[in-house]
Amino acid sequence: MRKPFVAGNWKMNMDSHTSVELVERIASGSVETAGHSVTVAVCPPFVYLQAVAQALSTSGIAVGAQDVYFELNGAFTGEISVSMLKDIGCLYCLCGHSERRHVIGETDELINKKVAAAITGGLLPILCVGELLEEREASQTNEVVTRQIKGGLTGLSAEKVQALTIAYEPVWAIGTGKTATADQAQEVHLFLREMLEKKFGNKLAKSLRILYGGSVKPDNITDLMTMPDIDGALIGGASLEPETFSKIVQFQK
Ligand code: PEP
Repeated sequence: MRKPFVAGNWKMNMDSHTSVELVERIASGSVETAGHSVTVAVCPPFVYLQAVAQALSTSGIAVGAQDVYFELNGAFTGEISVSMLKDIGCLYCLCGHSERRHVIGETDELINKKVAAAITGGLLPILCVGELLEEREASQTNEVVTRQIKGGLTGLSAEKVQALTIAYEPVWAIGTGKTATADQAQEVHLFLREMLEKKFGNKLAKSLRILYGGSVKPDNITDLMTMPDIDGALIGGASLEPETFSKIVQFQK
């Protein structure tokens, strides 16, 4: 019922030449799956979005931004709006990635404005949530993701939330090579789905895709994807290697 979704977050990597080369190789390695049995998206840095979108125009692979600003236009130096992203062919945008929360200092309140603006303007947000290592060790995982989901989705109706994808990314697993086990991830995914059910009803909770992120590689994707509430993956480091990313896209459930 929920089509698997694999998205690559390039973070602050690549250049104008290697960006296009990377997506051309990903597209040729994922021809049979991308857009058919698996939704695939790549999220390059803002400055390479347009070239990447053009290179992928007939590939079935979608393009997403790593962030977005909530205002429509005006005096917001350095920011990029929803309509600008749509204008150059973007479909998705990450909101509240852990690096934006913990390095840049984004709050749930700001992330909520971004999610709301993205949905209203016709972009599909991927809301990232996840706990720090010390929070997991203090058994606060559920409390943290509850705060992030409630904060991130404040004021949004079930109808609007249909546009959303959630990515559960335990911060201790991002870029560290330490993946959550499939059981650990499933436990949080189920908790998130039950929370969404209470807030927005059973139909919506069943239809929303919840991705796992944190050191996903070709050798752990299949295990993760066997779990009933894991609907795909958000990939950082491994999305910069075309063969590795294509192998993840072609996991077998
Ligand atoms: C990420 O940046 O969202 C991520 C999951 O990174 P990595 O796959 O490198 O852990």
